[in-house]
Amino acid sequence: MPLTNNHDTQTPGAPGTSRIEKIEKTAKLKLIPLTKRDKRELISLLKDYTEMLREALEIVMKKDIRSRKKAHEACYEYLRRRYPHLHSKYVQEAYKRALAMYKSYRKLLRKWQKLPKRQKRRISPPSPPSIGENKVIELHVDTYRLKKLHQFSLLRVSKGSGDYMTFLVMEYEHAEEMIKEGELKNSRILVDDGGIYLLLTVRKEVEVSRHANKLIIDINEDTVDCLLIDRGAGKALLFTVRHDIRGIRMNYRRIRKGIQMKTRGKRGSNVLLARYGGRERKRVEDRLKKVTTMLAELCAEFGTDLVREDLRDLKSNSKRRSRQLNYRLATFPYRKFIGYVDYKFYERGLDVITVDPEETSITCPICGYADSENRVNKEVFRCRRCGFTFNAQYVACLNIFSRLDEGEVVLRGGRLCLILREAGFVVPVDVAPHEVRISDDALREKPVRIMTKVIKV
Ligand SMILES: [Zn+2]
Repeated sequence: MPLTNNHDTQTPGAPGTSRIEKIEKTAKLKLIPLTKRDKRELISLLKDYTEMLREALEIVMKKDIRSRKKAHEACYEYLRRRYPHLHSKYVQEAYKRALAMYKSYRKLLRKWQKLPKRQKRRISPPSPPSIGENKVIELHVDTYRLKKLHQFSLLRVSKGSGDYMTFLVMEYEHAEEMIKEGELKNSRILVDDGGIYLLLTVRKEVEVSRHANKLIIDINEDTVDCLLIDRGAGKALLFTVRHDIRGIRMNYRRIRKGIQMKTRGKRGSNVLLARYGGRERKRVEDRLKKVTTMLAELCAEFGTDLVREDLRDLKSNSKRRSRQLNYRLATFPYRKFIGYVDYKFYERGLDVITVDPEETSITCPICGYADSENRVNKEVFRCRRCGFTFNAQYVACLNIFSRLDEGEVVLRGGRLCLILREAGFVVPVDVAPHEVRISDDALREKPVRIMTKVIKV
């Protein structure tokens, strides 16, 4: 239930205030060349584009170029002369990609150089980037048009010098909605195993507003533990969503090991590994989408914002990361989960708030005493100072609530309660008796794979 929406007394972050977030969606759509000529033209474009990439990368690496401007100066005129028949935007996209490849290589190299000597001997330095078999053509937004002709959808791609290629776009209905409400951005064509695909990217601006209700989540490798605070109803509920992402990952790791053992050195093992890798990715993504969609839909119903730990630390160097965080990163795709969950909340106009993640699982939510021994075992949390005993999996959620600075966690007559400061009342916390399970079987994949992303500006 929304609180009063008094526009005169709004402070930043107060319920009712809003701002704009940018989100991006990419759909993978199958393309059918309209004629044999269109297919030939595409293959020749891919060939030229790949050559151009290779040359651009060579220049960028030889001259140690690190800025877009320098890359333009060094590559643009030269490549334009070498490939006069191509649309100038392909040249631009080629040196942009070359630059991105070189920069990410430099980043890895720097990381490696910082390693202690002992580790350097064991870990080989990153290999310099090279253009092997390239399957992707970057399409600048100026080089393509989508249009409807009767019931068909067509993609028209400009090759340059007045040459065009036309493709029939399959499974278009799923993307249509997305195109209607957003703005077409630079996209890609993928030529893979004889199939041709359009990776169509659409950006849209969404208005995100603050809500009084909060869903606090603690993301773990087997579960997402949640605390839902419903101010309107004066209730707080702890519940768990169980997923099988770790199981999926472990299962595929076993499969991969098996393949490696049996086919070592034989041809075809890489194909098999790639195929299983693809399946694993799809299944994990399916789960991530299911869990995050479920949470976002639940919250959309009650006007509820998301509160999660700020895992920006993931980006900084590994020295500063705690061992625990490193372990968690290795077993669960955190960044992906966060990307999806933020997207799904923003998409529904709900806000996402982050708090400091330090020691949320070992701090006592009542007295604030932090000690790894507070966590007696996987199930039980018992504070060594005040004796507060609770279900260990929910402790992080309670601490995240405290860090939100909207109130505190207290015991009232032996019962766990939240004091909501602004509202000025006490809300009892209930624990749901059952877990929500998200797993396979009901797996119905859409024919179109859609990826999502939050753009930070
Ligand atoms: Zn305590």
